[in-house]
Amino acid sequence: MKFLFLFIVVMGCLACQSPKPVQKDWAIALHGGAGNMDSTKFSAADVQRYQDGLNAALQLGKQALAAGQSAVDVVELVVKELEDNPLFNAGKGSVFTNNGRNELDAAIMDGHNLNAGAVAGVGDIRNPVSAARQVMEQSPHVLLIGKGASLFAAQQGVEMVDSSYFFTEKRWQLLQRALQKAGKNGTVGCVALDQSGNLAAATSTGGMNNKRYGRVGDVPVIGAGTYANNQTCAVSATGHGEYFIRYTVAHDISALIEYKRLSLEEAAQTVINGKLSNTAGNGGVIAVDKYGNIVLEMNASGMFRGWADSEGAEGVAIFR
Ligand code: ASP
Repeated sequence: MKFLFLFIVVMGCLACQSPKPVQKDWAIALHGGAGNMDSTKFSAADVQRYQDGLNAALQLGKQALAAGQSAVDVVELVVKELEDNPLFNAGKGSVFTNNGRNELDAAIMDGHNLNAGAVAGVGDIRNPVSAARQVMEQSPHVLLIGKGASLFAAQQGVEMVDSSYFFTEKRWQLLQRALQKAGKNGTVGCVALDQSGNLAAATSTGGMNNKRYGRVGDVPVIGAGTYANNQTCAVSATGHGEYFIRYTVAHDISALIEYKRLSLEEAAQTVINGKLSNTAGNGGVIAVDKYGNIVLEMNASGMFRGWADSEGAEGVAIFR
């Protein structure tokens, strides 16, 4: 009788325990910006172009992770690819400031050692994410801005370009049209879990259309738009940067996992569709946790996004 009682108690306890999460070998998610997008304003050809752009970047990242490359290498590789695509508001396709300049921000973080690097307000570095990586690995600093960032990047052998490289007719017209209202979002980012269990995140942006000359957004602010920690998750955000800074969005998601033991999904929902949704903080995040679970959470009507993992999940999407 006593044994039967003990048996029931033990079995009951085992049944109460939440199932152990499946550990994936690798996982990746990327974004090309979020915002309130009207699907009726996208032609079938537009949708195809964006999907192709997302897919090209996703395939690069997928292959690199499957081949055993590190999460840091992969997030840089994928973000570079998206920076070179004029469709997205980062690198080549960056929006203009209110005085007609391009001021780009980017960040990268290695969840293995919490090392991070970022650049802000640069207008002559072809791939700001690579400059951010140099800041992370070759300097004792985390964030370099403007001319100092450019000088450092050039010394490190990062590809420099004339500022005219960032002129695209589409973004110029967007500035002309939107001098009165905040424009389209199209920041890019990538998060990855590699086969060694390391997490990394990278984000890159031209910022917000018609932003004030000198304005820096959330992207290069570690813990706001970009964060990675092997103990919890890697996060890359996109949206109205001022709110993402004030609500320290990326770190908040990590902290909810670390201190409150929430799942990645619960944590992202709490921040993006809880805290932020009560503000004008429009946008979203992509995130991956240490098990390889992927979350693509938004409080806007669309986010250009892609995802894949070692278990065969894969896709790209635009609208909610
Ligand atoms: N978060 C970026 C910024 O505020 C913009 C965006 O994601 O679209 O600079």
